[in-house]
This record gives sequence, C-alpha cells and structure tokens, in this order.
Amino acid sequence: ARENSAAVRGTDSVNADPESSGTSDVHQDFGENPLEVRTTDHYTEEYVTGFVDKWDDLIDWKKRAESEGNFFVDQLKERGVRKVLDVATGTGFHSVRLIEEGFETVSADGSPEMLAKAFENGVKHGGHILRVVNADWRWLNRDVHGEYDAIVCLGNSFTHLFSERDRRKALAEFYAMLKHDGVLILDQRNYDAILDEGFSSKHTYYYAGDDVSAVPEHVDDGLARFKYTFPDGSEYYLNMYPLRKNYVRRLMREVGFQRIETYGDFQETYKENEPDFFIHVAEKR
Ligand code: SAM
Repeated sequence: ARENSAAVRGTDSVNADPESSGTSDVHQDFGENPLEVRTTDHYTEEYVTGFVDKWDDLIDWKKRAESEGNFFVDQLKERGVRKVLDVATGTGFHSVRLIEEGFETVSADGSPEMLAKAFENGVKHGGHILRVVNADWRWLNRDVHGEYDAIVCLGNSFTHLFSERDRRKALAEFYAMLKHDGVLILDQRNYDAILDEGFSSKHTYYYAGDDVSAVPEHVDDGLARFKYTFPDGSEYYLNMYPLRKNYVRRLMREVGFQRIETYGDFQETYKENEPDFFIHVAEKR
C-alpha cells in the first residue's frame, strides 16, 4: 500500500533544522510527485516529529481549549457519556481535556510516534497517564476492546482516508465499538467552501495568531494539499482528501447512524461557506 513512498524514499526534504528533534524521522517524504500521493497509509509518514513538535510548541493548549470552549464536553455530558474512545489522539490535546473533565478515556491512534508524544504530553499537562492503544481505524475492533459511550475523531483527522472503502470501513468500526445509544463526534475542515470557491479564493488559515499558516497549495476533487509554514521558515505538507459535508453525513447514515447534527464552527446555524470547520454529531439510536 505504500507504493508511492517506497520507490522514492529520501527525496523530499524541505524542512529546516533537521537535527532539532534528535530522531531520524524528521523528513516528510512525498516523493517526486507529491500530487500523486493519495493513499490512506501515507498518514504515518506525514506526521513526522519535526512537524508535530513545532505544532505543539506553537499552538498553546490553553488557547486552543479557550477557542473550543466546552462544545465537545457539553455534547458528551448532555448524553450522559462516561467512557470515551479518542480514535485520533494525535499529540493528546483532546484526550487530556477529556480526562480532566472526568471521562474515562482511551486514546488510540495509528501512529506510534504520535502516541508516544501524547503520553509525554499527558504527564506534562497535569500528570495524567494516558491509556494509549496503537490502532488503525480500519481494524479498530481487532486492537481496541470494550464498548464506549462515545467516540471522538477530531482535528480534521478523517480526511486522511483516501478511499470510500476505507471511510466506510472506519465508520463501521466506530459504529461497532459504540454502545447501543452511543455517539460519534467527528470534525472536518469545510472543504465545500474550498472546492466551490476555487483556487483564486483559497485563503490562508492562521493558527496561534500569525505563527503558523496553512495554505491549500493544490485542490482538486481527490486531493487537498496544504502547506504549513512556521516562524523559522520551515515548511511541512499534508495531503488530505477533501471531504464534502453532505457526503460524510450520507456515509454516516449509510453505516447506520440514525441522527446526524452538523455544526459550523460550533454553531447550530451558519452560512454554508463561512465556517472553517464542520462538526458532525452522529447518534446511533
Ligand atoms: N485530534 C488531534 C488534534 O486535534 O490535535 C490530532 C489530529 S491529527 C490532525 C490526525 C491524527 O489521526 C494523527 O495522529 C494520525 O496519526 C491519525 N490517523 C490518521 N489516519 C489514521 C488511521 N487510518 N487510523 C488511525 N489513526 C489515523
């Protein structure tokens, strides 16, 4: 499945300061033809340590918590949720937040590097010991055990799946791990706006003030390639699948979710093209 990267290893090294993280896994590898990299399995090579460390250094967790407010916590508490599976743990931001709010939380991710970072962050942010499980969404039930009141898949993570088969498989695995009245909360960037408004109107997204910028460098129906630029001039890329909002809602319905509410930047009402993010709250019953 890694056909794109295996053939061209070591060609792409735009990142500045390759020595900084002390590991060898600091170069992203998109090969000679980055626009051809459209595979689900590539995600573990995109979140290299340099990128992840810089992101965590710059995006203040306190500020991030303030900007999200209590949206996710309220959604979960309203439904009497106790046990949560964070399937896209990343560097642990949501897992730590959930533990602090008293939820029994298991933290899964398909990337062992991300889980190591998340574990470290749990200890750093309040001395929490994260229960981490290395699991790819497509085979979640094989590696994670138990049933959950809620599953969260946040931070525009579902976008890493590049085929409909993988998306259906992942959603079906999420569905199966939820209790009969469980809820899935999954967010995504508003790709409809990017696709519909076209190349000319692509705007730059800023994180943590102006510190990190994200620009959609290439967008077509099958790929959104974003460039992330950091204050030290280093650049990283993510190749993502541009999920349309109604397409994701349809898939959720088709795997069995009964009620799907989609919020725009945490609001119930919004103009379609305005929000940067959509948040789907999908109920099983
Ligand atoms: N939720 C975190 C946040 O908001 O900071 C991290 C989100 S990060 C953008 C996406 C995460 O999804 C990465 O840690 C990546 O390893 C994980 N991921 C992507 N595809 C996956 C898959 N098929 N199975 C499991 N994890 C996956």
